[in-house]
Amino acid sequence: MKAAIFYKRGGIENLRFDEVPTPKVGAHDVLVKMRACGLNHLDIFTREGSHGVHAPLPHIGGLETVGEIAELGKDVSREAWKIRDRVLVGSAITCGKCEYCTSGNDNICPKRKVFGVNVWGGFAEYIKVPASILVGVPDSLSFVQAAASPSAFGTAWHMLITRAKIQPGEWVLVLAAGSSVGVAGIQVAKHFGCKVIATASTDEKLAKAKEIGADYLVNYTQKNFAHEVLHITENRGVDVVFEHVGTSTWEKSIASLRPTGRLVTCGSTTGRWGNTDVWSTFFKQISILGSYGWTAKEFFPVWDLIGKSVFHPIIDRTFPLAETATAQQYIMDRKQFGKVLVVD
Ligand SMILES: [Zn+2]
Repeated sequence: MKAAIFYKRGGIENLRFDEVPTPKVGAHDVLVKMRACGLNHLDIFTREGSHGVHAPLPHIGGLETVGEIAELGKDVSREAWKIRDRVLVGSAITCGKCEYCTSGNDNICPKRKVFGVNVWGGFAEYIKVPASILVGVPDSLSFVQAAASPSAFGTAWHMLITRAKIQPGEWVLVLAAGSSVGVAGIQVAKHFGCKVIATASTDEKLAKAKEIGADYLVNYTQKNFAHEVLHITENRGVDVVFEHVGTSTWEKSIASLRPTGRLVTCGSTTGRWGNTDVWSTFFKQISILGSYGWTAKEFFPVWDLIGKSVFHPIIDRTFPLAETATAQQYIMDRKQFGKVLVVD
């Protein structure tokens, strides 16, 4: 099969479009013909070997794969799955036995294997996965729409509902609204009746953020967003900051919170270190909440709302599988509003 593969970690020049052996399915596996695979910054960190991500080599990235079943392992239930079924590949294989898996926190299973990070992902014509982690794709969603959804909405749901426990009427500041997780964060917060302030780097991205429900907009390249937040909220501050940016925004994010506010973070795209004002943290009784991925259990209501078009994935553009490197460069240049995918 053809795949976007790297044999050593580093810059974009290491990503080749090459012929590689098609994976052989085990008894409980299926082979999925990739139709669409969403791009994430994690793909870039994995290829670079940055942010503490060390994939085995050679490696194929891509953690959000949707496609059609091409082959069934001999012990896979023929009642559950058939050739050509449209399926979403769950993001990770977890152990099912540890204290995290058995308490419903399988997203932090220490033995989890993430597709495209720890095992070969979807930037390939075919991907091998255990049948147990497949999810059917409803007819209402195209392959591209389905692949654009899980990471963004699963992550945003876990951040806002499970971790920050947003309440109707609360103020939520969503950073980098042009990213796919920002797009999802705005929609989840609005669905639960919150007031949303969105930041982005261009007025064009802000106009799109308004279209999907943001109430207030801040161009962070022109204004200090923490000052703007205080202005918009009449010096109160927001209840929740939806962080995924890291170093470049961290201090301003904390400064944007009202007393008892919660900062919830799922990422550090501009760097993993940030200065934390310890005084403000205790004086204002601030909570800093980490959030990683989403759990298997909470994914089903999210997937249901996506299938019913309550949540809309925003697709920026697609690239052919052969142009995976160009697609990665495109998101490294931060040109997108919403999801970028490769298709085959
Ligand atoms: Zn586990």
